[in-house]
Amino acid sequence: MSMPPASPDLSNFWMPFTANRQFKAAPRMFKAAKGMYYTTVDDRTVLDATAGLWCVNAGHGRSEITKAVAEQLDTMDFAPTFQMGHPLAFEAATKVAELMPAGLDRIFFTNSGSESVDTALKIALAYHRARGEGQRTRFIGRERGYHGVGFGGISVGGIAANRKTFSGNLMPHVDHLPHTLNIAEAGFTRGQPTWGAHLADELERLVALHDASTIAAVIVEPLAGSTGVLVPPKGYLERLRELCTKHGILLIFDEVITGFGRLGAPTASAYFGVTPDLLTMAKAINNAAVPMGAVAASRAVHDAVINAGAANAIEFFHGYTYTAHPAAAAAAIATLDIYKRDRLFERAKELSGAFEDAVHELRGAAHVKDIRNLGLVAGVELELRAGAPGARAYDVFLKCFEAGVLVRYTGDILAFSPPLIIEERQIEQIFSTVRDALRSVA
Ligand code: PLP
Repeated sequence: MSMPPASPDLSNFWMPFTANRQFKAAPRMFKAAKGMYYTTVDDRTVLDATAGLWCVNAGHGRSEITKAVAEQLDTMDFAPTFQMGHPLAFEAATKVAELMPAGLDRIFFTNSGSESVDTALKIALAYHRARGEGQRTRFIGRERGYHGVGFGGISVGGIAANRKTFSGNLMPHVDHLPHTLNIAEAGFTRGQPTWGAHLADELERLVALHDASTIAAVIVEPLAGSTGVLVPPKGYLERLRELCTKHGILLIFDEVITGFGRLGAPTASAYFGVTPDLLTMAKAINNAAVPMGAVAASRAVHDAVINAGAANAIEFFHGYTYTAHPAAAAAAIATLDIYKRDRLFERAKELSGAFEDAVHELRGAAHVKDIRNLGLVAGVELELRAGAPGARAYDVFLKCFEAGVLVRYTGDILAFSPPLIIEERQIEQIFSTVRDALRSVA
């Protein structure tokens, strides 16, 4: 086996969501990962406070998953799922369905969160069309929503930087709800804020403006992660559900981050007790061992689409070459078995109190403007350095990395989402490292 060069040429790989010039001037590279830790190319150990990119929920290098993938590739590397099938695709769908809220048990596989979002939006349109309401073409997203990088996802998403370059080509017929973050009203709340449920009523305003008969779906992250951990106010998601039902609008929960135990429950829907019509997922579905995503659809949505045409007609013109790829499906089955056997969702729930206490101990630390948390997710918002948005959080991220802890930052918000196998002493290590880093940056 040929080893990768110790110092590879950095010029060819155009890096995603990265300051390429800054990175390539001083690269940070991992070469191995096991359990809670990465190893850097210069043999330093780094505690993973981010589960990779919110995806390695069972911890790194799980041998059961590796074995399942290797055996699958050896047995059958690939099989099409267009007019053909392979048993693991169906088995994986059944295992995913078991973890979904009751009734959301029809599973469409994709390869990423972005693809899951675009798939869900297309299912919503297909559903309304199948029922003779093809004029329902409008989507309602939310400010500060992140729904991946497809044209559908950035259109319903609410992040200016992801939209402005492409603004002439975003999907038409999209409107946005206001986001729910309000530090003045709800700063330093532990768990769900009590302020803000009324913001769901903004949907009534949009319905009054556009008319319900033009609206296909509302899409929100039940807890927004990528834009800095926005925890839904108590009653907010319940109200959105009520209003969607009242107006015949589908509700889509984007659970790419919250699915598979992040909040100490199989899904955020289960955690909050609010069931959407479509639920998107990816990342931890197979512990990120092989790219995979999925959409869970309610039976009503699925059946409306599937039963609309002749039995020999393809009902939904959508799918990916790698939909339910055998290696990804094998990884999903092995991963979901680990979650169950090791009770990792329960473990996340049990640890969430210690995690909450530890992150809130940063209150009063240098530069800290707000702290938000739920389950095993936390965000620490920093005062921004005048004239240099994001610079302070980047400095903290770098200091933490140098001190052996991988955190994530977005704008001036630090985000924490460790693997669910984390131990209390590692939680302490994360936040004491962050505290020291905060002290040391300007
Ligand atoms: N939706 C949400 C809520 C996400 O957090 C992400 C990624 O972080 C995505 C969609 C996009 O997923 P991917 O990067 O796999 O395309």
